[in-house]
Amino acid sequence: MPLLICFCLALLAAAAVALWPLWVRRRRERIAGRPFPQAWRRLLRRQVPLVSRLPARQQLKLKALMQVFLAEKPIIGCRGLRVTDEIRVTIAALACLPLLGATRGVYPELRQVLVYPGAFVVDRPVTESSGVLSDQRRVLAGESWSQGQVLLAWDEVRRGAATPGDGHNVVIHEFAHQLDQAGGRANGAPALPTAEAYRRWSTVMQNEYDMLRWRLARGEPGLIDAYAATDPAEFFAVVSELFFERPIELATGHPALYAELSGYYRLDPAAWL
Ligand SMILES: [Zn+2]
Repeated sequence: MPLLICFCLALLAAAAVALWPLWVRRRRERIAGRPFPQAWRRLLRRQVPLVSRLPARQQLKLKALMQVFLAEKPIIGCRGLRVTDEIRVTIAALACLPLLGATRGVYPELRQVLVYPGAFVVDRPVTESSGVLSDQRRVLAGESWSQGQVLLAWDEVRRGAATPGDGHNVVIHEFAHQLDQAGGRANGAPALPTAEAYRRWSTVMQNEYDMLRWRLARGEPGLIDAYAATDPAEFFAVVSELFFERPIELATGHPALYAELSGYYRLDPAAWL
């Protein structure tokens, strides 16, 4: 009898494991299909003007992705910050923007987003192997951890959302790191479908990275921020910000780079303007 119970329990456990992905997919479809709250719609219009550039079909898809993101990823206020709908909607919209084209899930490895009122310092040692990317272009504005955590400074998030044409957006930047970190430590090459795609990506990115360093060494101005020359992971995150915020200039000045990003994100933001 105990043997029969064990067998039945094992059978139930195997069925639960087999059916889990189906249950998750159904649940996400239900969440994505919920009506998008009117208050969130108003917040999107006011807080994230970049969204109004998207074709109507992409706006609908973004709203569906946002609903899943907000249902699954806790956004936690730190240092006394109360997380409002304004904060949740702004972060979700910009975090989901890079997911609009390709089907790669809603950051499956991301566990939570921590939001600070402003510049923050995290008191812990950062080592080469810690998998943490800190961004201190103006202040410590964001961090992306390979262990499924993103940290953001709300004042930087709000500033980045309000100025979609300046090419700086800390949310897009940190979530580009998350995509890069999906397969392990960030190295500037997110998951690509084939070895040939990796070879082409590597050639184009290295060429652009070298040109940027050469330009910076000569003190010449240019579209890509000097911060991109920190390392290949920062290069990918910085050019991702430009790809969504200043796509026409990126496509005109760096066509090969734009084409690679367009292929990866499966999007053509230059056509949205
Ligand atoms: Zn970074």
